[in-house]
Amino acid sequence: MQVRTQADVAVVGGGTSGAIAAVAAGRTGAHTVLVEQYGFVGGVASTGMVFPGVFDGEGYRAAGGLLQELFDRMNEMGASIEHVPNPTGASTTANDPELLKFVLMNMLIEAGVQPILHSFTVDAAAEGNHIRGVILANKSGLQLQPAKIVIDATGDADVAARAGAAFEKGRPEDGRMQPITLIFRMSNVNLKEIFDYLRDHPEELRIPFTTAFSKGKAVDTYPLDYYEKTPGSQLETFGCLLDRHWPDWPGKNMFHISTLRGRDEVTINVTRAQGLDATNVDDLSKAEIECQRQVLSMVQWLRKNAPGFRNARLMSVPFQVGVRETRRIKGSYTLTMEDVVEGRDFPDAIGRGAYPLDIHDPAKKIKVLGREVSGKSMTLIHIIRSYGIPYRCLVPERVDNLLAAGRCISTTHEAAGSTRGMAVCMVTGEAAGTAAGMAALKNTLPRDVPVNELRATLERNKVVLDRDKAERLSSAVGSAVSS
Ligand SMILES: Cc1cc2nc3c(=O)[nH]c(=O)nc-3n(C[C@H](O)[C@H](O)[C@H](O)COP(=O)(O)OP(=O)(O)OC[C@H]3O[C@@H](n4cnc5c(N)ncnc54)[C@H](O)[C@@H]3O)c2cc1C
Repeated sequence: MQVRTQADVAVVGGGTSGAIAAVAAGRTGAHTVLVEQYGFVGGVASTGMVFPGVFDGEGYRAAGGLLQELFDRMNEMGASIEHVPNPTGASTTANDPELLKFVLMNMLIEAGVQPILHSFTVDAAAEGNHIRGVILANKSGLQLQPAKIVIDATGDADVAARAGAAFEKGRPEDGRMQPITLIFRMSNVNLKEIFDYLRDHPEELRIPFTTAFSKGKAVDTYPLDYYEKTPGSQLETFGCLLDRHWPDWPGKNMFHISTLRGRDEVTINVTRAQGLDATNVDDLSKAEIECQRQVLSMVQWLRKNAPGFRNARLMSVPFQVGVRETRRIKGSYTLTMEDVVEGRDFPDAIGRGAYPLDIHDPAKKIKVLGREVSGKSMTLIHIIRSYGIPYRCLVPERVDNLLAAGRCISTTHEAAGSTRGMAVCMVTGEAAGTAAGMAALKNTLPRDVPVNELRATLERNKVVLDRDKAERLSSAVGSAVSS
């Protein structure tokens, strides 16, 4: 096996959290490499979805730091990204997925990070509780990338699992995980025709299969006006149309369209593969095949039956299916649903989260805010007060020189419904990268990084730690509701 030059920090996974983690680590001055299986960075954040929860339900910023810098840089290139209030409480931010990949890559190069692309991490070279490096399979063959500190930002906690770290997968009672979905984008969509149809069919704006909560009240529908005015609004619609024409459509409970300002392009979230485990290659293959079949059928159905789609074209399908849930590391603290919905603070918080608690679950009932909720397929609880994310959720038990970022940090199945949101993943990525850089430069372990120093560095870099000092969204939160 070829042995590459030792890095201070090796980030595995150049997606939503990993690319940000590598920028943060690179900026500490640590020699950082970023290992990614595909030829670009951005991961699921490059598939065209919006960022809810950059601000919380009361309008206080939750995610700042590198996330905001990324948006600012994209705006300098004409992306028109803006944070807008969401009628049920939090904020939403549409982005330009193609631009995001390239701007993130520029930020990596400027930070001195060495991206190692087209490289799948197949194993961790672990000795006892220590990872010597990660093993890559790529065009050059098998390679060992030695590193002082490794960040697992694979989404699936691949490195942690290979290194023998403890993890949980799915929900505790039966290990079932949230469904897998292949997002797709269509262009040449006549949005005006969609809104005209919705004006005549208000029943189509209901969220029949979703249990959505805001400030403890169930929310049935958002005003149509909001969707028309708000770039990045996510329209949950066509439920009745779909029921009438296609009652057994597997993903009918989630017809979800995101719009971008001034564009005729939409991102559609409607496919579903249930009961599969994306860390099993045969299940992953089944998910790809099933979701691709669904995309093809749905595109044809939309063109024939849905208002606004007659002349629409399939514009892009992501590099792979979207995986909502697999492994979560067991850290020295496990964030809970109560921590999330009650907006709890922690002395070792390294950032804040406000992405809604968004659980796509066909069966299980859970208690939230004192009441039992059981959307037939999805529960969505908006976060009124952002919650702190303890550094301990990033630090795994057992393996010494490893940190986790993104959707595989240490949380319960329910809390992961919020921490898996892109804004939160970027927040944990920035913290993991900063901590890894500090640990590597001081020749210490992540668990021994002085949390006060870490927090001070993050605060200097405009990460939001203290909710009461956070900036407020300038436009009146909730104005969209009353309109
Ligand atoms: C269908 C769907 C809809 C969603 N909708 C929204 C939404 O509207 N808004 C929102 O905020 N969030 C949404 N989410 C959640 C959010 O997008 C993801 O949870 C988040 O982007 C995950 O970030 P991550 O960094 O953990 O993983 P990813 O962004 O998936 O990054 C992981 C990276 O690691 C790489 N990788 C994985 N394994 C290896 C390996 N072994 N070796 C090398 N590279 C590897 C991958 O190629 C990828 O680039 C959605 C998720 C899904 C699946």
